[in-house]
Amino acid sequence: MNSEMLPVMESFYTIQGEGEFQGSAAYFIRLGGCDVGCHWCDVKESWPMDAHPKYAIQDLVAEIPEQCPIVVITGGEPLMHSLDQLTHHLKNSGFRTHIETSGAHPVSGSWDWFCLSPKKFKAPNQESYKLADELKVIIYNKHDFEFAIDEASKVNTNCQLLMQPEWSVREKMMPLMVDFVKNNPQWKITLQTHKYLNVP
Ligand code: SF4
Repeated sequence: MNSEMLPVMESFYTIQGEGEFQGSAAYFIRLGGCDVGCHWCDVKESWPMDAHPKYAIQDLVAEIPEQCPIVVITGGEPLMHSLDQLTHHLKNSGFRTHIETSGAHPVSGSWDWFCLSPKKFKAPNQESYKLADELKVIIYNKHDFEFAIDEASKVNTNCQLLMQPEWSVREKMMPLMVDFVKNNPQWKITLQTHKYLNVP
């Protein structure tokens, strides 16, 4: 693919609903393409690489409001694309660059915040564990607590450890998560607050 063009499913200025930067204004660019295959994925429309219009990087960056503090690159799985030129242009325009990734593809781009959300279905690579500022594990069932502990042993000691209930089972899993975090206070719970705020 021409690295000057990227397939974009959607882009929008909103409030970051999850993770360490929850509550901050942020511009999201959701890139098309994902081969990880989480059965509970809430953005399955993002999966096909060719179903989304391609945009020139300069045009994408030009649409971001200049007062916006943070640009979050998400997907899909954004690291299915080379993101070196995108982050180069974002940083030249003065934006913080954040990524949300499963870590299953080689890392490209230059990141001020690297959110690694590992998935059982396609393991992250070593570089992603090394770069992770935030480890965000989605809790769908009881086995995901063991997965979370195992994944936490692979990141740096200063990486933030966050767990988030998968939306459709949040009422069932939340009491278990509360117990887990009370017993393992190095972890924090993060919620998809944008869904409660009813913003994208
Ligand atoms: Fe969906 Fe993300 Fe899993 Fe891809 S990695 S299938 S976009 S939840």
